[in-house]
Amino acid sequence: MILVNENYTKLPGSYLFSDIARKVEEFKASNPDAKIIRLGIGDVTKPLPSSIIQALHKAVDEMGDASTFRGYGPEQGYDFLVNAILENDYKSNGLNIEADEIFVSDGSKSDTGNIGDILGADNVVAVTDPVYPVYVDTNVMAGRAGDLVNNKWNKLVYVPCTSENDFVPELPKEKVDIIYLCYPNNPTGTTLTKDQLKVWVDYALKNKALILFDGAYEAFITEKDVPHSIYEIEGAKEVAIEFRSFSKTAGFTGTRCAYTVIPKSLMGYTKSGEKVSLNKLWNRRHTTKFNGVPYIIQRAAEACFSAEGKKQIRSTIEYYLNNARIIREGLSQQGLKVYGGVNSPYIWVKTPEGLTSWGFFDYLLNELNIVGTPGVGFGPSGEGYLRLTAFNTLENTKEAISRLKNISL
Ligand code: PLP
Repeated sequence: MILVNENYTKLPGSYLFSDIARKVEEFKASNPDAKIIRLGIGDVTKPLPSSIIQALHKAVDEMGDASTFRGYGPEQGYDFLVNAILENDYKSNGLNIEADEIFVSDGSKSDTGNIGDILGADNVVAVTDPVYPVYVDTNVMAGRAGDLVNNKWNKLVYVPCTSENDFVPELPKEKVDIIYLCYPNNPTGTTLTKDQLKVWVDYALKNKALILFDGAYEAFITEKDVPHSIYEIEGAKEVAIEFRSFSKTAGFTGTRCAYTVIPKSLMGYTKSGEKVSLNKLWNRRHTTKFNGVPYIIQRAAEACFSAEGKKQIRSTIEYYLNNARIIREGLSQQGLKVYGGVNSPYIWVKTPEGLTSWGFFDYLLNELNIVGTPGVGFGPSGEGYLRLTAFNTLENTKEAISRLKNISL
């Protein structure tokens, strides 16, 4: 008899995006002429820059020539990419990370989801709320989340991030062992300053806790006091794993490349209190379960760090940030309360008085033909908010905002 991992049976279906799609389809069926603008898109829309395409072509040709062909590469990533990451993302910011602390992978979704493999089942896990759902669901799969009671997993610690606390997560009252922090945040688009992040690093140092820091939106940071890496905070190399991705930085959502940093000074513990290097455990997992990112993709990722690559990537990010500004300013002018969108492609809007997340979603779809994402889909504290994104075209973004001038709520 095949026994299954019953934790999987606890997971409810992921209905958020299918419910949105169904509502949009229904609306389209009864309003075939309506021009719907999608500001719910969580994916990049601009193509890869030309310098990255050139690097891809070159690498493809190398694979067709016996003298340059490559088979299996190092599971942790080729030196050329690891060194480019070290130089550009760390050394140039005065941060000393070593080559064997970097693990190149096919995505931060996989890495933030898989990291739990090396962590014990009895750890108490905290997530900020609202949250990127992968952190929650993968802990359910691992048996660390307990049961779903009133829309909350009863063994997870939820740390609310709402306008009431200015989206700055407060330290939990109960002791936690693992904390997921994502900054700039998905879905709220908000950030932490260095001092605010330091509070969490200090907490982790004091409580021997681990911070899983997801920096997927690092490239969107524009403000000075917002840390680009958790390792800018003193002591973070003792307590934090950092996840970075080329997806939103350079349009790699369909190309797939990311990396994870696990400092060698970061220790976990056995039940009897012996120290164990998390870097060693992850290396063991990574080399056992993963055979490396394709050579051609790693060459494409390397090209992101060339002078031309950097310039082209920057220009795409500026394009999205300009859309974010237009949305933010347009909504504010209509008297709506808006958060995020300064260091992020995400804009988090407070729903008008008396409207739930879904109520505001329905209003925008039916009256203005604009699609957002109901905040409650990201966790209980997302109720009363809606997420808009800056990934549509400039033209559509402008048109959406001009439609908002007709808002009557
Ligand atoms: N982390 C966060 C917070 C995200 O929003 C996303 C993608 O939407 C990811 C990670 C996934 O990144 P990747 O494409 O590298 O798997």
